[in-house]
Amino acid sequence: MSEVNLIGMNEGVGMSGVYRGTFAVVDLTAIAQNLRAVRSVMNSSVRMLLAVKANGYGHGAVPVAHTANAVGVDMLGVASLEEGLELRSAGIDTPILVFGRVPFSGLSTAAKEDITVTITSKWNLDEIPACSPPLKAHVKIDTGMSRLGFRESDDVISLLQSIKTRKDVDVTGIFSHFACADAVDVAHADAQFHRFGEVLQKVSDEGLCPPLVHMANSAGTLRNRAWHLDMVRIGVSAYGLAPSPDFPLPITLTPALHLYTTVARTEWIPAGETVGYGATFQAKRPTRVATVAVGYADGYFRLLSNRASVLIKGQRVPVIGNVCMDQMMLDVTDIPEVEPGDIATVYGRQSPDEWDSGAIQKINPTDLDSFICETFSKARDAGNPVLSLNELAERAETISYEIMCALSPRIPKIYVKV
Ligand SMILES: *Cc1c(COP(=O)(O)O)cnc(C)c1O
Repeated sequence: MSEVNLIGMNEGVGMSGVYRGTFAVVDLTAIAQNLRAVRSVMNSSVRMLLAVKANGYGHGAVPVAHTANAVGVDMLGVASLEEGLELRSAGIDTPILVFGRVPFSGLSTAAKEDITVTITSKWNLDEIPACSPPLKAHVKIDTGMSRLGFRESDDVISLLQSIKTRKDVDVTGIFSHFACADAVDVAHADAQFHRFGEVLQKVSDEGLCPPLVHMANSAGTLRNRAWHLDMVRIGVSAYGLAPSPDFPLPITLTPALHLYTTVARTEWIPAGETVGYGATFQAKRPTRVATVAVGYADGYFRLLSNRASVLIKGQRVPVIGNVCMDQMMLDVTDIPEVEPGDIATVYGRQSPDEWDSGAIQKINPTDLDSFICETFSKARDAGNPVLSLNELAERAETISYEIMCALSPRIPKIYVKV
């Protein structure tokens, strides 16, 4: 990986600095480590697809794809043809599978760019444009997610039979998707796997089974080796999050996404004073309020108002009042030494002490990147505690995935390179 050139990858950092004091650290080393950890529970013949849809779950699809390449990931998964084309324009030549529906008008472009599409419902072959080189496609089977794909094996068989007449369309795979592989009770996942097996059997009996068969997401992959089939499709686990807090993981995962912000002001307010829009917080005691430069426009949900906490100087401090668009307020009464320029860990690894007291904003922008990467890596290796996205997600009544994807593009990202 060291030979992969990641210069220019840091969006908005480098020359432009981080004057607002709010930035994300994306730990590509952690992603590489997580990919290897997942590999360690797979048979060596099983392939691995990494989902990099939604800009790599907010981490940046292109840097993540480079990391995946370095670790030997076999395929990348995206939601749309657009996302696949973005990777191709960035020079990523790994096989790509589009999970979502691609309209017929996009199929010849997909073929030209060697992007595999998913057949998500019946195809009228007369409407499929001529493709050169031949289009690659995987057939989706709906085994209980009720989202995309074929429910009936007869429909799959007639599709595969009719496609045989098209020399310019190769069906290279067949797959399904678990709805509940992360649930405590495995009955739903078992039933889906069984239904997929039935479809595969009928298709095989006709001699029509495509070569690559896959079903497992992260939860399925970490739950049951029998579900791996020819390939697993992982996302959240590569980004370092347990798919669900409900079942024990066979491996250790390291979170890759970390969000930091900077204290802009500290001030004492008397008992009885209120904080923020709507005055939803009223001080019960003289209270020291720290204002930080992160808000719902950055992807920190307003639902977290008066519910969540962040880390400052290694201590948890509560978010008080309603989260604003660009800022929010914290109760730092119990750590009165907090001053403007100190760093708050919004989620992820507790910030290194070297970042406090305005240190980051004093550094020459050209040196910032390496300063942040070095000090961050040291803090990671020293085992600084983590404010987990799974905890934050629970407080926001959602899942870690949604918080990752919500990270605003206006937040500069600093990549810790493999
Ligand atoms: C996103 C996605 C995955 C990866 O799911 P995780 O739960 O993040 O591991 C796998 N398959 C499909 C079809 C997906 O859309």
